[in-house]
Amino acid sequence: MLLKQIPINASAPVAQPSVEFDADLLGRLSRSGPRYTSYPTADRFSGEYGYRDYLHAVAGLRTRGGAKPLSLYLHIPFCDTVCYYCACNKIVTKNREKAATYLGYLKREIEMQSLLFAGMNEVEQLHLGGGTPTYLSDAQMEDLMAHLHRTFRFAQDETGEYSIEIDPRTVTPERVARLRRQGFNRISLGVQDFDPQVQQAVNRVQPELETRAIIDAARAANFRSVSIDLIYGLPRQTPETMAQTMEKVIEASPDRIALYHYAHMPHLFKPQRRILDAELPSSQDKLAMLSLCIERLGAAGYVYIGMDHFARPTDDLAVAQQQGRLHRNFQGYSTHADCDLVACGVSAIGAVGSTYSQNAKTLEEYYDILDRNELPVARGARLTMDDVLRRTLIQKLMCQFEVSIRALEQAFPIVFADYFAPELERLAQLERDGLVTIGADWLSVTMKGRLLIRNVCMVFDRYLAGGASARHSKTV
Ligand code: SF4
Repeated sequence: MLLKQIPINASAPVAQPSVEFDADLLGRLSRSGPRYTSYPTADRFSGEYGYRDYLHAVAGLRTRGGAKPLSLYLHIPFCDTVCYYCACNKIVTKNREKAATYLGYLKREIEMQSLLFAGMNEVEQLHLGGGTPTYLSDAQMEDLMAHLHRTFRFAQDETGEYSIEIDPRTVTPERVARLRRQGFNRISLGVQDFDPQVQQAVNRVQPELETRAIIDAARAANFRSVSIDLIYGLPRQTPETMAQTMEKVIEASPDRIALYHYAHMPHLFKPQRRILDAELPSSQDKLAMLSLCIERLGAAGYVYIGMDHFARPTDDLAVAQQQGRLHRNFQGYSTHADCDLVACGVSAIGAVGSTYSQNAKTLEEYYDILDRNELPVARGARLTMDDVLRRTLIQKLMCQFEVSIRALEQAFPIVFADYFAPELERLAQLERDGLVTIGADWLSVTMKGRLLIRNVCMVFDRYLAGGASARHSKTV
């Protein structure tokens, strides 16, 4: 496939390639599939799993002893205005009182969870996501963080990973400094695109200078890692506008970059109906944008971590990958493997022991259940041995791009070639396509297979036998 060529800055440092772009392969094999932030994926959770199952799972941790460190996720669902590309579970409102009510319930849930986990282990990881966590006022955030520190024991700032997603439109440089003092040491900014035309088309106007001021403030406040979220495939984007955005991103020099593919699914996500089909880039232009971003980021020294993520080689994420201890959870990639994930807030998903649990998805239901003094668990999954095996395998592929067959055989009572005989047959086709290599000891994803890692993982997804769900976006 012929792609538009955008000139590369010849003076940029040359980094070791960590991914290979093959337009023909991507065009041919890209298909709908899960992002594997969990296995089984959240669309397989069952309403038969509830509060009592969750209590049982936590009790199981106590019985077995040797509890793992904790990871906390808090969901703040509110946003001030809607971005048209949004596919998140959020509540768009200008009524700030709603946040005050929510905070009261969230604190109650945090307290109930802390009693369950009392004395078990300390928190090594905290993530505030949304929605827009910085929809909360300074005073509300102060109150929330103080409550967390009263109820849970936290690891020191040097060892813990405490992150918050911010919308640069909702904070000032002063507020960024305060977030650092409130205990956050990682920050992630939603940027999406620096181009004013694109920003207008998606109803997210955010002047470049203001975003840069927030990034500078984060550096000045000593955040350990500054991350930027971008999206390609948005209306009015072209390879040329993307080249300019990339130049600005590289100049801003974040430690991590997430580059997401915009999946246009207006039948599922109402805000997307405000996006004009005629303004969307063609598939060929989208591939050209992806190719350009990979080239530019590689030339600027960023390492491809996997599934939309790039990081500086010195960033903890890249180091964890090199050392084989990268982990993937509902917030994406993480350096803290093997934590039990306690999630609080409407629709939040936790992972404790061999279970997943998701909270009620509407505020009404979430408040009602908490009013009954129960945790608002609405659905979830109890993993079988087969689930745990496949989860381990998919995690390894997503995080390391390879899996040791022998290590799996030692950890689980299986003979790989027998247990996965049908999967190996399907993998043989991916091997012929050049996506993977299958040896006696290792299953490895090639450089050009890395962008199609979901295709490889999908081979091992037992629940996909009936085909990918309509809710899944395309790989590229
Ligand atoms: S993209 Fe983020 S800020 Fe925009 S509406 Fe969705 S959750 Fe809110």
